[in-house]
Amino acid sequence: MRKTIIRSGMETLYFSGMHQLMRPLLGGVGVILTLHHVRPARRGAFQPNRLLEITPEFLEELLYKLKGGHLDVITLDEIHRRFITGEFKRRFVCLTFDDGYKDFKLWAYPLLRKYELPFALYIATSFPDRLGELWWIAVEAVIAQNSRIGLLVDGKEQFFTCGMVSEKRELYNAVYGYLRSMKTEDELRAVVRDLCARYRVDIATFCQELCMDWQEIVELAADPLATIGAHTINHKILKKLPDEAAVRAEMAMSRSVLEAALGKRPDHLAYPVGDATSAGPREFRIASELGFKTAVTTRPGVLFKVHRDHLTALPRISVNGEFQQQRYLKVLMSGAATAMWNGFRRVNAA
Ligand SMILES: [Zn+2]
Repeated sequence: MRKTIIRSGMETLYFSGMHQLMRPLLGGVGVILTLHHVRPARRGAFQPNRLLEITPEFLEELLYKLKGGHLDVITLDEIHRRFITGEFKRRFVCLTFDDGYKDFKLWAYPLLRKYELPFALYIATSFPDRLGELWWIAVEAVIAQNSRIGLLVDGKEQFFTCGMVSEKRELYNAVYGYLRSMKTEDELRAVVRDLCARYRVDIATFCQELCMDWQEIVELAADPLATIGAHTINHKILKKLPDEAAVRAEMAMSRSVLEAALGKRPDHLAYPVGDATSAGPREFRIASELGFKTAVTTRPGVLFKVHRDHLTALPRISVNGEFQQQRYLKVLMSGAATAMWNGFRRVNAA
C-alpha cells in the first residue's frame, strides 16, 4: 500500500514537472546514494528483500547518465572538504554501497571501473570475519522453505500458515515489523536464532555466501576509486543498544579492525539500518566524538549547506530495487520527493 502511494506520488511529481521547478529551492548542494546488492534479477515471487537490490543494467544506465551529466561524482572525503571550505559551485553525487556483498565485486565494481567513478563501501567487519548474522535474509529463508511456522510472540507460541506466496509476503512483513519493534537487539537476535534452529536454517551460511572476504576487500581498497568506510562490527541497530559504551565500541572497534586489515584508518561511517529508529542524536554525537569526518543514515534526503553542522547525521537517497526506473531516481535526486516526506524540513537529525 505504502509502496503504491510512494510510487504514484513520484509519478505525479515527475509528470507534472514540479521537481524541475523545485530543484533550485530543494535540490540542495548534492546527494549521497545508497545501494546494496547489484545482481541480475532472480526468479521467484517471494523476494521480500528485493528493495535492497538492483540489476547491473540499471546501475550501468545510472553510471552512464552520471558520467555524461552535469553533476560531479565525488568521494566522501571531497564531500567533507566541500562542507568545510564551503565550495559548492556544482552539485554533486556520491555512490555508497552498504555491507560489502560479493555481488558488488562481481557486477558493480567492473562498471565503476569502466566509467571511472569513485565509490564508497561500508563494511561491517563481522561479515568478512564470517561471524555476522544477516538476520533479514535468514527470516526470508525460513519463510521461503516452510508452509507453517511457529513463533514465540511475546512469550506465547503462535502458528502461521505460509504456503502461498501472498501468505509468505504477509508473514515476512509481520515478522520483520515484530523484530524491528523489539526493545533490544539481543532480543531480536535471540528470536531469529530460535527460528533458524527450529527450521534448520544455518544463519552463518549467508555471510559466507553473500559477503566479501578480507582478501576481496583488501584488493578493492587498493583502488584509488575506493573509499572503505566503517559500518560497525556486528551490524546492530545502535539505537537499540542500552549501553552507550557498546555503541562507542561498535564504531571504534570496527574502525580499528579495518585499519589493521587495510593499513588505512577509515574516516567515514554508516549506521546499520540507518533510519530514525536505528540511529539518533546519541549515535550522531558519538560518531562525531570519535572523529569520523562524515557518518550517513538512511533517512531520505538531499544535502544542504546547513548539513555542515550535521556531518555525522547525513541523509541519503536509496536506490531502491522496487523502483528501478530512472525517472524515479531523477525525482528523488531533485529533492522534491524527500522534501515532501520531510515536511520541507531541511535537516532531520533529531
Ligand atoms: Zn548495512
